[in-house]
Amino acid sequence: MKNQIEEVKSKFLSEISSVEDEKQLEELRVKYLGRRGIIQSLFDKLREVPKEEKPALGKLLNELKELAQGKYNEKKLEIKGKKAKVESFVDLTIPGRLKYTGRKHPLTQTLEEIKKIFIGMGFEVASGPEIEDDYHNFEALNIPPEHPARDMQDTFFIEDKIILRTHTSPVQIRVMESKKPPVRIIAPGRVYRNEAISARSYCLFHQVEGLYVDEGVSFAELKGTLLAFAKQMFGSDVKLRFRPSFFPFTEPSAEVDVSCFICGGKGCRVCKYGGWLEILGCGMVDPNVFKFVGYDAEKYTGYAFGMGVERIAMLKYGIDDIRLFYENDFRFLDQF
Ligand SMILES: [Zn+2]
Repeated sequence: MKNQIEEVKSKFLSEISSVEDEKQLEELRVKYLGRRGIIQSLFDKLREVPKEEKPALGKLLNELKELAQGKYNEKKLEIKGKKAKVESFVDLTIPGRLKYTGRKHPLTQTLEEIKKIFIGMGFEVASGPEIEDDYHNFEALNIPPEHPARDMQDTFFIEDKIILRTHTSPVQIRVMESKKPPVRIIAPGRVYRNEAISARSYCLFHQVEGLYVDEGVSFAELKGTLLAFAKQMFGSDVKLRFRPSFFPFTEPSAEVDVSCFICGGKGCRVCKYGGWLEILGCGMVDPNVFKFVGYDAEKYTGYAFGMGVERIAMLKYGIDDIRLFYENDFRFLDQF
């Protein structure tokens, strides 16, 4: 039996030295160290040997078992280590991961450009609440409850007389209520309208309104200011066209077109072959509005204008659907 133990030992040692993976190692463990394995069968045989030989053979068997278990544990760690090394191997041929650089939304870019131009001409930036009361949004702007202009500015009601503002004009009222002339501000911000959503209209959009009130402010100054803005925004060659219009809070009022900066006025798809693009509304502040804020209409005059930021961005970048601004589709935003 002593020879048998030696034989098993040398066989085990040679077999374990050629083991290469976890599967082979497990097979070897079952074969030698398992409950029905070779080493256990030797222990079983120990019962049959004469009493006096038992202690010595038992000792040899225990040594074999310990050796086998020790070698098994060593091998297991070795295989694990190799595996870990393979897993941490750096493959330099794998293409790099793309990192996207964030950027400003096209509306933010457009708004910042507009702001920069007017700040350069001495305007201050004013802001007001998006949840507005009926008085500041309509009444103080010369739009009484039954006025038809309210139809064009259907909005969302928070509660009776509390609404989401339909334009940034209430900011002008709030500034004039708190300050004596001269007032020279622009009011950029988000406004809301209860509109059917389409390629041309959305339930919210952004406006920039301007207001200048002082002694002797004239329509000529309004024209000069807007022309200076248009040249910086759309190019130094553009011309402006003023068409008579109506707004409840200005008198006289005008719609302003800029000569198409894409075709130079010859006519193209963007200007619908007319050569002009409508960009804003403006006028001289109605003396009635001054009464609401306590300004002396005999002493002061002023002009106001307002433009849609979406519209300017759509013209500038050739975007034909307003909804694209709000869908947060990366393929769209990535282009600006
Ligand atoms: Zn054109």
